[in-house]
Order: sequence, then structure tokens, then C-alpha cells
Amino acid sequence: MESIALYIHWPFCASKCPYCDFNSHVRDRIDQAAYADALSRELAYEAQRAGRRKLASIFFGGGTPSLMAPETAARLIAEATALFDTLPDIEITLEANPTSVEIGKLRGFRAAGVNRVSLGVQALDAASLNFLGRKHDAGEAIAALDLARETFPRVSFDLIYARPGQGEADWRAELRRALALAADHLSLYQLTIEPGTQFATLHARGAFTVPDGEDAARLYLATAEEAARFGLQAYEISNYAKPGAESRHNLAYWRYGDYLGIGAGAHQRLAMPDGRLLATRRHRAPEEWLARVGRDGHAITEEEALTPRDRAREALLMGLRLHEGIDPARIAARSTLPFAECVDLEVLESLRADGLLAWHADGRLAATPDGLFRLDSLLPLLVR
Ligand code: SF4
Repeated sequence: MESIALYIHWPFCASKCPYCDFNSHVRDRIDQAAYADALSRELAYEAQRAGRRKLASIFFGGGTPSLMAPETAARLIAEATALFDTLPDIEITLEANPTSVEIGKLRGFRAAGVNRVSLGVQALDAASLNFLGRKHDAGEAIAALDLARETFPRVSFDLIYARPGQGEADWRAELRRALALAADHLSLYQLTIEPGTQFATLHARGAFTVPDGEDAARLYLATAEEAARFGLQAYEISNYAKPGAESRHNLAYWRYGDYLGIGAGAHQRLAMPDGRLLATRRHRAPEEWLARVGRDGHAITEEEALTPRDRAREALLMGLRLHEGIDPARIAARSTLPFAECVDLEVLESLRADGLLAWHADGRLAATPDGLFRLDSLLPLLVR
């Protein structure tokens, strides 16, 4: 049996960022003890279904899990590592925002067992942080990174680029400042306008525009160049790491491994002993999620066995985001379909001839840098 990853969702934030379409909610009061109990119940329910698999990673995401009490993280880590056998180098990540309140808790999270922190820095200048609706300033972000590096063996942070009016030279300069802050991993996302967000409304009204087309492509290529100068290699469309510092938890998704997801709105993919691969979704609204866990021990709202074609599609959509690409034999095994039935081979050949896909010497198929930038338009043509 392959190892398994565990995602734990904390659905609350201090405020809603205008670009964010995650399942995150702002509440005046949160009953931390009740949420901790409910997460614990869902964990026990899923651990029982998963059987004794090796646990490779735990990821506290959100929302803003650094708003959680460190005792809650400690309890869930202790329970997860008792319910599963763990790999000796288990990766335990917590997402944190660099506000002073949350940073004051970093040592508590380290004592709880967290060994990797991912900070939502997003930008390094006041005007951009203000535009992005962030609650911290650049000084707090840098202080948070200093403390994170002292406290955790592994540190990552996020930046959002392709912001309104941001040119290539500005972005290269900001990125160099960020890279000099010596994290071993960076997530560098292009600003996208997601439906239903405050930015979607403002953008539709013409309040701002973001770089697109050739401008966005130039920013993307500049990003990989600057990261490489500091020894961080692109290993996924938006993720850069020193060798060995890749996020093992996120690699489990992209390599289409099994993962459990507990908490409001969390997703899960779990292979069952009878060969079915179950896709599971939980109630998104925190209060309803809490009530359902109280009633049933879990808040599953949808669960289906994925068809072979669903499996192939998901495995390709995730795997082709990676620079290492996909192993056709694994796609065939995971989907139970021959690889030739998972993709349109004629399209594959024409994308290869156009320099957007390439076969590696080890038999893997991967998108080239140009192909990665165009992945969203290329995948619907390729994947059956
Ligand atoms: S802090 Fe993160 S999850 Fe919360 S609203 Fe902002 S972007 Fe979304």
C-alpha cells in the first residue's frame, strides 16, 4: 500500500482577502474546543476507513490555521500519529499569516510537532499589500520569516505577482529581495481573477486590469530564471524549491496519491481494498459541518467511486503540472485504462512537435516551460 497524506482544514480568517475563493469565513467568535473535537472525530472516522497506511505528511491549511490554538494542532498531530504508522521523516506543515498575533504562536506550533511553515507573505511593498487586502506590512512579513527560519527546519512563503501595473523589472527586483530571504521553498502565483470574489466585481467594472497574454508569459519566464539564480528549481507550475525541499504533501496530490481531507469543505481521494477510488467532499459551511460531525461523526456530503476515465483525467491534470511530468505506466495502473485510451495520441504528437510537450529519456511525458504556461488551454485538447 502506498503512503497517505492528511489535510486538515481550518476554515476561518481574520478578514476576507478580495482575490480569495477558498473556503474561508470570518466569524466574531469561534468555539475552538468544539472545532477541535469535531476534527478529531472526522480524523478517527477516516483513519478507520483508511486502515493502517503509512502517514507521510500532515498539512494544516485554510482559511488561516495559524489562528488555531497551538494546543489544537498538538492534539490532532498526536492523534494522527497514533492512528497511523508514520514515515520517519513525516512532513507536518502549517500555513500562517505574518501578522504579529499569529507570529507570536509560531514557537507553540513548533512545540506541537509542526516542522514546516508556509507563510502567506504575498508582496513586499505597502501599496501591493494594501491592494491585496492583507493585514500585515512588509516589516512584519520579514520579521515573521526571520523567526520562522529560527524556529522551523523548513520554511516556505507565497507571493502573488502579475499584479496591476507590475512590469517585468519591478517583479524581478521584488523577487530578488524575496529570494534573498533564504526560504528553501517558494510558491509564486500569478494573480487570477476568480469568479465570486470582490476582485471579480471590481475587475468587471474596469477598476483595474492585470497583465495577460505575452506580458504574463514574460513574468512567468522571468520568475523561473530568478528563482534558478538562487538555487530554487521550478518543480511545479507555481512552486520552486531547493533540491529535496519540495512540498511532499503537495507532491502527493500532483502525483495522484491517496489523501485524506478533514474539516469543512475538504476533499479526499482514497483507494478502497475492493479497488474503488472514492472521491469525497465535506460540507463547506463551518457551522453545518460542525453540526453534521456532531450528529454522524463526519460531514460527508458527496462520495462517489471514480470511473476509470475520471481517474485518468484527474491523474493527467495533476501530473502534467509537474516538471517531472507523468509516468504513463502509473497513469494506466491508477486509472485501470491503457495509456493510449487516456490521451488523444494524435494531439499528443502535435503538441510534442510544437515544443509544448516532451518525452523524457526515462519514459515520462512532461510539459515544456512553454507548455506549462499554456497548460490550461492544452489539457482539454490532450486529455480524453
Ligand atoms: S488569508 Fe488566505 S484563506 Fe484567508 S481570505 Fe486571505 S487568501 Fe483567503
